[in-house]
Amino acid sequence: MSRRLLIAGNWKLNRGPGAATELANALKRELAGTTAVDLAVAPPFVAIPEVAQKLQHSGIAVGAQNVYWETSGAFTGEISGEMLRDAGCTFVLIGHSERRQLFGETNSTANRRLHAALSAGLEPMLCVGETLAERDADQAQSIVWSQLEGGLAGVDSAALERITLAYEPVWAIGTGRVATPAQAQDMHASIRTWVSERFGAGCGRATRILYGGSVKPANTAGLLSQKDIDGALVGGAALNAESFGGIAKAAIALGR
Ligand code: PEP
Repeated sequence: MSRRLLIAGNWKLNRGPGAATELANALKRELAGTTAVDLAVAPPFVAIPEVAQKLQHSGIAVGAQNVYWETSGAFTGEISGEMLRDAGCTFVLIGHSERRQLFGETNSTANRRLHAALSAGLEPMLCVGETLAERDADQAQSIVWSQLEGGLAGVDSAALERITLAYEPVWAIGTGRVATPAQAQDMHASIRTWVSERFGAGCGRATRILYGGSVKPANTAGLLSQKDIDGALVGGAALNAESFGGIAKAAIALGR
């Protein structure tokens, strides 16, 4: 995976097909033709076909927020990687903290989803991050490293090239409380160390690691100017073309 800056929006449970189409059109007006940074959005499942169609040739990639590990069969309510590819996705979020906290996601289920995504030709974006209690107990690094160990079990260095990592401290997601650039940089450096030890120094240098948690236009430059932060995974501020565009423009202005 290249370390070009990537600004990715996670729309969560917001914007059904109609509203998502409007947001996609607004993003196109705001950002079409952007080549200096990579751009991506993950709408709700039902809006993916419309958004993918609207964003065709715009340079903004479309992905999903989750994927099931089976390819077909009696799994009511689930969506496979093949289906996501068919609908226009090129990537998928894996192990987002809301999946872990609200829907019983574990490192092992995240790992099954990640392998399913790879098999379907999707690029997984594996999310890791500690809770406030874990940070306060000085366990942030060990929690993040165990999420990496579990989430990336059975992955080789060739597959790692197709994976983006996203460090999202749970205490910074949707809270308005962003990690300081130094806090984020420290954890990103530690994640890079883990990747180097597990996959080799070349992979450590080449892996793209995003920061997520209350990223806004005003704090983007401070975070993304850190040497181990390769972009942002954005929730709330991704629901508005102007604020998502503002984050992308702040990233572009860094000239990385
Ligand atoms: C997220 O959910 O991935 C996220 C980073 O949300 P927010 O930007 O709203 O904190």
